[in-house]
Amino acid sequence: MLEIRDLSAFYGNIQALREVSLRVPDTQIVSIVGANGAGKSTLLKSIAGVLPSKTGSISHEGVEISSLAQKAIVERGISLVPEGRQLFTQLSVLDNLHLGAYSYYRRKNKKLISDTLEEVYAMFPRLQERLSQTAGTLSGGEQQMLSIGRALMGRPRLLMLDEPSLGLAPLVVEEILNTIATLNQTGATILLVEQNAGEALQLSHYAYVLETGRVVHEGEGETLLHDPAIEKAYLGGA
Ligand code: ATP
Repeated sequence: MLEIRDLSAFYGNIQALREVSLRVPDTQIVSIVGANGAGKSTLLKSIAGVLPSKTGSISHEGVEISSLAQKAIVERGISLVPEGRQLFTQLSVLDNLHLGAYSYYRRKNKKLISDTLEEVYAMFPRLQERLSQTAGTLSGGEQQMLSIGRALMGRPRLLMLDEPSLGLAPLVVEEILNTIATLNQTGATILLVEQNAGEALQLSHYAYVLETGRVVHEGEGETLLHDPAIEKAYLGGA
């Protein structure tokens, strides 16, 4: 379980998050939706320890992690699939996957690495067919799969995804979202940031709506999906 209380985050003088409180219970999908600039990416970066300047509490499995370094947070099993994928484009698919398992290399746990690779191949057969291809030459959808696969190589207990559907064709979006649902069905806890609010709410057990750095609505995905105020502001409803 991840529990955030009164989290504020700052870029210099700019306050991007204002006293955000939320919970991500184990084995659930929780979504953060909101317009451009609402603070969604900032929230994930704050949890991942990428942004240094914040106040408030972030507790993971009962341990306060808000002052831990990024590396220590990864080692606790929290993985971020960043917006824009951020792959090593000149390296092969296999090298990118191996880089996701670096903490297991340090522990020389080869069996776990090969077992995890097999799990990633089962989830994304298309990656297995392209192991020696450089990541930069993959299609957009394949790059997103690789970015998720690389995060899964670290066997995360909490997987955070920042706009995984961004820039992808509708069919590919469907495929990526189905993968997220499947991951969750196999026990993964997921914190998902999406501008594609309708799709995200359908998929989520619970969701929070951010507006200019504040949580302005929250509720079960299904409930928010049919909330007239949410429909009007985020789902293109009348
Ligand atoms: P989008 O959907 O467009 O990615 P978002 O909801 O993820 O938006 P953030 O990227 O978290 O929003 O940005 C929140 C606010 O913080 C915005 O006003 C943005 O301009 C500001 N911001 C983000 N990154 C920085 C930065 N590195 N320096 C200064 N301000 C920033």
